[in-house]
Amino acid sequence: MDLAEYKAKELFAQGGLTVKKFVCGDSVEELLENMKTGGVSYPVVLKAQVLTGGRGKAGGIKIVENEAELLEKAPKIFGMDIKGHIVHKLMAIEAADIKREFYLSVILDRKEKSPTIIFSPAGGIDIETTAKEHPELIFKIPVHPFVGVNDYTANYLADKGGMTGDVKKQFAALLKKIYALFISNDLTLCEINPLAICENDELIAIDGKITVDDSAVKRHPDLQAYSEAQPMHPLTREARDFNFLYIPCDDTGNIAVMSNGSGMLMSCIDLITKAGMKVCSVLDLGGGATAERIAEAVRIMLSVPQSKALFINIFGGITRCDEVAGGIKLAIEKGHATRPVIIRFEGTNKSAGLEILSGLEGVTYVDGLREGVVELSKLDL
Ligand code: GDP
Ligand code: MN
Repeated sequence: MDLAEYKAKELFAQGGLTVKKFVCGDSVEELLENMKTGGVSYPVVLKAQVLTGGRGKAGGIKIVENEAELLEKAPKIFGMDIKGHIVHKLMAIEAADIKREFYLSVILDRKEKSPTIIFSPAGGIDIETTAKEHPELIFKIPVHPFVGVNDYTANYLADKGGMTGDVKKQFAALLKKIYALFISNDLTLCEINPLAICENDELIAIDGKITVDDSAVKRHPDLQAYSEAQPMHPLTREARDFNFLYIPCDDTGNIAVMSNGSGMLMSCIDLITKAGMKVCSVLDLGGGATAERIAEAVRIMLSVPQSKALFINIFGGITRCDEVAGGIKLAIEKGHATRPVIIRFEGTNKSAGLEILSGLEGVTYVDGLREGVVELSKLDL
């Protein structure tokens, strides 16, 4: 789960990092109201709260000196489309006087199999851009989880950033705090870009980007509450109640695909797309689905307005083919299977599954993925 900047900054503040005073609002009126109650004073930076970087370049970040300027600029940011993300929430944060910008993050590096610190003296710029144009300006240091952040690591990086004196001390303390945040909140990414030396030589987190390990969200009541409050596709939410993963795909597509495993879903999407058709949505059943749950999954997938057919691809391991077939039968009995269903399964209890399927109206069994794609194209949707 990715956190919006305001939520990331709340965590930063809890973790003892310095952030400027800020409030958010879902409208200009609410923002002004919250600025007054929150005691946020001008000049402030208005920042679009969308889950994408490069907001500055896109016009989603504006400094304003007073209320008149805010009233002029804020309405233009609300509703803005930044790389496909519509702005519904705006932050007003007291402006910092930036002297120098750095990049700092802690990530879970799967190659190193450990948390890893990434630091660059070139801050405020996409780390991908720096990696391409100035790889020599990126410093990566794996952190041994039993040891944590060493002073010599902090000093080494501070030197690379040309930090001295008190700033260097602040950096060492900050590095330990951000690492502690990373561990205690089960993060996979904790990024400050830019981290800036500001007025009074204070190190301040100007921007924040945090990704929480999805499997760990429920361990953190605060993050769980945040997650539940996020706008979500209604079918994604419904699917989640059954422990399915639903992902809307191409709005112009008309084929719904259901499988047990993301790799199988992706290969279905690839084959269907290669055959010139489009997938509107996919659903991952996970492991061990029962007939009742399969029937619900069929209902969810065929309630997608664009879906004209449902393609099901199952590897029968823990999930048994007869349960899946039973689920489709149940879906038909309940009136959920309103459109053609093409199904392929392989594995545990396949023959029992085939027996259940035989004679089910509107259901076509196929003996392979390619055969399934051929059947789909025959439907001429
Ligand atoms: P991003 O464009 O989505 O990464 O958003 P950032 O929060 O990183 O802001 C982009 C740029 O705006 C930063 O690199 C800064 O140069 C500038 N910026 C953001 N906040 C402030 C601020 O408080 N004071 C000043 N002077 N510049 C800021
Ligand atoms: Mn940034």
